[in-house]
Amino acid sequence: MSTKNNPNKKKIAVFDIDGTVFRSSLMMELLDALIIEGIFPARAKKIYEKEYHAWLNRKGSYEDYRKKFVLAYEKFIKGVKEEKVWEAARKVMAFHKNSVYRFTRELILKLKKTYYLLAISGSPRRIVKPFGDEFNFDKVYGCIFATDKNGRFTGQILYEKLISDKEKILTRAVNKGGFSLKGSIGVGDTETDIPFLELVEYPIAFNPNMELYQVALKKKWPIIVERKNVIYKIGGKNLPQKINNIIKNKFLAKRPK
Ligand SMILES: [Mg+2]
Repeated sequence: MSTKNNPNKKKIAVFDIDGTVFRSSLMMELLDALIIEGIFPARAKKIYEKEYHAWLNRKGSYEDYRKKFVLAYEKFIKGVKEEKVWEAARKVMAFHKNSVYRFTRELILKLKKTYYLLAISGSPRRIVKPFGDEFNFDKVYGCIFATDKNGRFTGQILYEKLISDKEKILTRAVNKGGFSLKGSIGVGDTETDIPFLELVEYPIAFNPNMELYQVALKKKWPIIVERKNVIYKIGGKNLPQKINNIIKNKFLAKRPK
């Protein structure tokens, strides 16, 4: 969509989805549903079981667990009928669409009238897209899994290089839509989001993992943490007033000065 068609949206805000807006991983929830529905065999769990428990028990990293469930998804998607997966995706969406963080949800609501909202996710696009629609994203990027002429997944991921390059996607969206990066906002939770956070005027490290946290400290990016019903801002440059207002939201507990 060009700004010509949408004259009110000249600025751009870019969000990672898993762990930034959604309080889990869309791909992981889809994988779980596919196993429960018997579309993937139960043994698919074996691939990530160990890393899942290690992460759950605070002994292993989420990244190790994530790599393994992506591996399981890619392995067992091969040969499965596309329609079966999208049916499971619809169910996952209906069940989980409100499992979001308050900070990012409020931020999206505040920005949606004046900002072009872009989502960049490593989860399958067919599940990221309905999630993005739910929150009024203008454009959603996600992984595209190839299918054969019979509508079965081949196991191949299309444009895999491009989708993992979040900087390139943002640059492309900015050029295509004629946006300016002035006033732009970016929110991410892991180091894979660093490339697009470097480009925007207001980068935000939200509930960051250690890798992103360290970079954010060094670059003086604001770090925002949401735990229970409190949103904390830890250091970093000043943010526009409308973002600060979310942190000081009257629904949230008062913090000591
Ligand atoms: Mg993430």
